[in-house]
Amino acid sequence: MSPQRIGVYPGSFDPVTNGHMDIISRAAKIFDKLIVAVALNVGKNPVFTLEERLAMVEGDVAGLSLNHIIEVTAFEGLLMDFAKEVGAGVVIRGLRAVSDFEYEFQMAGMNARLNPKVETAFLMASDRNHFISSRFVKEIGALGGDVSHFVSPKVAEKLVKRFSVNKAINKD
Ligand code: ADP
Repeated sequence: MSPQRIGVYPGSFDPVTNGHMDIISRAAKIFDKLIVAVALNVGKNPVFTLEERLAMVEGDVAGLSLNHIIEVTAFEGLLMDFAKEVGAGVVIRGLRAVSDFEYEFQMAGMNARLNPKVETAFLMASDRNHFISSRFVKEIGALGGDVSHFVSPKVAEKLVKRFSVNKAINKD
């Protein structure tokens, strides 16, 4: 029997967007098992807790046809250590505009030095998701805008709740 091809798709997913979900469903077709690794990433000062981000990704993944080969899990520390721990040979990242390239290029290079056995592979964002980012989704949500084109209904609801709570707190 040939060994399982395991891929890891890491990210902050603060929150998960239609762009992330598109990468997840496409990557799931390439591997026997895809691990979506939600980074604790305290340095990025996330709006949602790790538990909330995990729950949102799990909720969206449950709706995918290939959900049986997808595992959603938290990770902390070095991505290359995590990849080794779970037996993954490939890290998947999404590429949007040229603006993603510089950062992703550097990270792939550094990670290759840390563990040359793990490849980084990129999937291009689909044209309809090119402009979607967690950052802009949060900004639109915070300003009371409609985020329903960019995230799932469950995530949109979470964003509305989070920012209405924040507004109430700021009023006090
Ligand atoms: P990170 O904090 O690791 O950058 P993100 O959650 O912002 O985590 O993104 C995870 C990965 O998904 C990155 O490779 C990012 O480029 C990619 N990504 C984010 N949004 C999109 C999108 N709309 N289409 C395709 N890839 C995306």
